[in-house]
Amino acid sequence: MEFQDTLRHQGLRKRLVEGIRIKGIKDEKVLDAIAKVPRHLFMDSSFLQFAYKDQAFPIGAGQTISQPFTVAMQTFLLQVERHDKILEVGTGSGYQAAVLLEMGATVYTIERQRELYLKTQSILPQIGYNPKFFYGDGYKGLPTYGPFDKIIITAGAPVIPEDLLTQLKVGGRMVIPMGPREKQTMYVVVKTSETEYYKESHGTYVFVPMLKGTDK
Ligand code: SAH
Repeated sequence: MEFQDTLRHQGLRKRLVEGIRIKGIKDEKVLDAIAKVPRHLFMDSSFLQFAYKDQAFPIGAGQTISQPFTVAMQTFLLQVERHDKILEVGTGSGYQAAVLLEMGATVYTIERQRELYLKTQSILPQIGYNPKFFYGDGYKGLPTYGPFDKIIITAGAPVIPEDLLTQLKVGGRMVIPMGPREKQTMYVVVKTSETEYYKESHGTYVFVPMLKGTDK
């Protein structure tokens, strides 16, 4: 496979970024990261012509690459700082992980579908992105690698996973779409002490479901 980022791709990406800005994300650091990540390289080749539309698309194994606006919103709500240690649940195509890496974070990402985990782990470093990849159940997080400054869930969760709350630093933030399968509310969960947190809601979205266990 050839990994090309042409002037045409870059132009389309600029337009995508302006669209996201108009839809309400004004954070320049987030927009710069979206402008840098070649989204077309994260998608099935059959969908290449749609890479710079602000839409979610199938990536195989019944999963999707999130809509760029949703990625921008979750990234904005996470308030990423350089050198943040971030846990992502739901590696998928690796696009969200790449955006976080562009912002200077260290990224630990978990995927429960073996096929996606293997595929993304082999492709991403070739595009220049090196998160730490894990095959496992995001409900359990990564107890031996925590605690994390930030945690981002990229699948729709029915509840806040207890183990993830434990692995979040005091003062840390978790961004999690939560609710029934049909639609979820985007929450920011801020951990205020070892036993306390508060949450704010930020609109409704539709994600693929966060499932328990792994696929094998
Ligand atoms: N962040 C991805 C979005 C992928 S969609 C991207 O940028 O492309 C959500 C992903 O979450 C799917 O790949 C799905 O398999 C995964 N997922 C669902 N439940 C999970 C769990 N319990 N642990 C880890 N990954 C999970």
